[in-house]
Amino acid sequence: MSRKQKRTLARILIAAVLAAGAWLAPLDGVWKLAAFAVPYLVIGYDVLWGSLRNILHGQVFDEMFLMSVATLGAFAIGEYPEAAAVMLFYQVGELFQSIAVGKSRRSIAALMDIRPDHAVVLRGKEEVTLPPDEVQLGEILMIRPGDRVPLDGEIIEGSTTVNTSALTGESLPVDKSAGDKVVSGSVNLTGVVRVRVESIYAESTVARILELVERAAEKKARAENFITRFAKYYTPCVVIGAVLLALLPPLLNLGEWNIWIERALIFLVISCPCALVISVPLTFFGGIGGASREGILIKGANDLETLAQVDTVVFDKTGTLTKGVFAVNAIHPEHLTEAALLDIAAAAESYSSHPVAESIVAAHHGHIDKSRVGKITELAGLGLEAVIDGEPLYVGNAALMEKVGAEWHECHLSGTVIHLARKGEYLGHIVISDELKPDAAAAVAALRTLGVKRTVMLTGDNEKAAQAAAKESGVDEYHAGLLPAQKVEHVEALLRTGCKLAFVGDGINDAPVLTRADVGIAMGALGSDAAIESADVVLMDDKPSKLPAAIRLSRRTMRIVKQNIAFALLVKGALLLLGAVGIANMWTAVFGDVGVTVLAILNAMRAMKKLPPMNDKIRQNT
Ligand code: ADP
Ligand code: MG
Repeated sequence: MSRKQKRTLARILIAAVLAAGAWLAPLDGVWKLAAFAVPYLVIGYDVLWGSLRNILHGQVFDEMFLMSVATLGAFAIGEYPEAAAVMLFYQVGELFQSIAVGKSRRSIAALMDIRPDHAVVLRGKEEVTLPPDEVQLGEILMIRPGDRVPLDGEIIEGSTTVNTSALTGESLPVDKSAGDKVVSGSVNLTGVVRVRVESIYAESTVARILELVERAAEKKARAENFITRFAKYYTPCVVIGAVLLALLPPLLNLGEWNIWIERALIFLVISCPCALVISVPLTFFGGIGGASREGILIKGANDLETLAQVDTVVFDKTGTLTKGVFAVNAIHPEHLTEAALLDIAAAAESYSSHPVAESIVAAHHGHIDKSRVGKITELAGLGLEAVIDGEPLYVGNAALMEKVGAEWHECHLSGTVIHLARKGEYLGHIVISDELKPDAAAAVAALRTLGVKRTVMLTGDNEKAAQAAAKESGVDEYHAGLLPAQKVEHVEALLRTGCKLAFVGDGINDAPVLTRADVGIAMGALGSDAAIESADVVLMDDKPSKLPAAIRLSRRTMRIVKQNIAFALLVKGALLLLGAVGIANMWTAVFGDVGVTVLAILNAMRAMKKLPPMNDKIRQNT
C-alpha cells in the first residue's frame, strides 16, 4: 500500500469510529448534525474541496461533484447518518479501486521487466560493474550465464545460448558465437561471452521498447475518447434528471418533498461513471502489456483498436513472407569472369543493408576491396548506383537496367535476377533465390480463418519470383515489379474500397507504405531502428504468425472493453430505475457503484493473459 492509501485507510477508520459514536450518542437537532458533520468532514474534505476546485476551473460535472451534491443534499433533508455513510463507503470503494489498479499496473510492469540493472565492463585489466547507461560505445562487456544482456553489441569472444523470450515471446534459446549480435534485454544462458557495445543505453533495444510501451498509454483509442465525450454529456443529463426527479413529483402532488429529494440524491450516487472511467483505459493498458509479452509491440490504444478491425492484409515479399536470405544460384557474366563479376557486385553492395546486398556480400568469400568504392546512391525498389574504380556501376533489377539504357536480357533461370551495368554497358547478372519463411503459409491461412477477407503481396521483385512466393504462401493476389511509390498507390487503391488495411513489411524501404496503411506493422525489428520508428505495431521477431496472434489479442481486448461498457451501463441503468421508483436506497447505490467498478477491473485484467492456442472454438468467436 502506498502512503496515500495508508492515510486514506486511517481516515476511514477514524471516521467510522466517530460516526458510530454519533449514532449511539443521544443527541438531537443541531448537536446531532454537528456529531455527524465531524466524521463527514474527516472522510470527505478532499472530495468537497476537489469538486469546489473543479467548479472554479470550469469543470463542473464529475464524480466528486456528484458525491458532494448527494451527501450535502442528504444533510439538507436531515439524513445525517446516510450522508456520512455514503461518503465513507465512497472512500472505501476509491481505496479498493486504487489498490486494484496499482496491483494490475504493477503486474503489467513486471511483465515488462526487461530493464537490465547493471553491466560488467572490462576497463584495462579490471572488471567494473556499472549502471548500463554509464557504459560507452565500443567498450567490452563481460556477460556471464544468468545475466541479462545490458546493451546491444557483437560477441567478440566466447559462445553461448541466449533466451530472447522477454523481447520476442519466443522461448527457444538461440546459439550465439563470436561475430553474432546480441540484443539488450535477452538473457545469457550457458557461456561467458565478451561483447563489444554497439549502442549506448538510451538507443538500445530495451530502452526503446520500454519507451514505446510507456508512451502507448498516451495514444488514446476512439473507445476511450468515447468515454470522455460520453461523460461530458452524461453527467449534466444525470444532474438535470435528478433535479426533475426532486421537483416534478411533489409539484404534481405525487408525494412529499423529502421522499423525492432523497430519491433524487440516490439517483445521483448511482449514476457515478467510475467503472467506465477506470476500467476502459486499464483494459487497453492490459492488452498492450500482454501483447508485448508475446513480442508484439503495439504503440497505442488506437492502433490496437484498428488492428482488431483489420479485414485486408498487404504483405511485402522480401524479408517479410520470405526469409530475405538469398543463396546465389548462378553467376552469368557477359565477358568478365564469374569471380570478377561477383567481386564488383560485392564491392558495390558492401555498404547496403538490403537483404539482396547482404546475400551477395555473403556469397563473396574473399576479401572485398572497399577502397575501390566511391559514392553510393541507393535507388529504392530498383537497386543502387555505386562509383567503382571511378566509374558508375548500376546493380539492380530489370527496371533499373531500362532506366540507365543498358542492353540487358532475361535469364532462363527463375529467381531474383540482379543485373549489373557499368555506365550503359551490360556486364551480366547474378541469380539469387530466397525461401519462404516456414510459417508464412500457416500465417496466411490463420488470417483467413480469423475472417480477413483479402491478402495481397506487393513486391519490387520480378514476376516469376513473385508468382512462386504468392503460390506457396497462399495469398489471394500479388503485384510484382513495383517501386516503393507504386506500392503506396496500390495500398491507396485498396483503401478507397473502404477496407481496414494492415501493411506488413520488414522496414527496409517500405516506410512510406507503413505510414499510409490504417495500421503499419514492421517485423523482424529486433535491432532495426527505422522500422520501430515508422510502424504502429512492431513484431519483434521474424515470424509472420505473430500477425494473427496480434489480431486475436487486440480483438480480445476490444471485446473486454465492450463487455465492460455494456455491463456498467446495464447495471447502472437498472439501479437508476430502481432508485427513481424508490426501491434502491443510498446503501444499495454505493454498493452498486463499488461492485460494478471492481468487477469491471477484474474483467480488464483478463486482457493481459496469455493467448490460448488457436482451436476451432476460438476460431468461431475471435
Ligand atoms: P520487396 O518489395 O520484395 O521487398 P524491394 O522493393 O526492396 O523488394 O526491392 C525490389 C527489387 O529491387 C529487388 O527484388 C531487387 O531486384 C532490386 N534491389 C533492391 N535493392 C537492391 C540492392 N541493394 N542491390 C541489388 N538489387 C536491389
Ligand atoms: Mg522489402
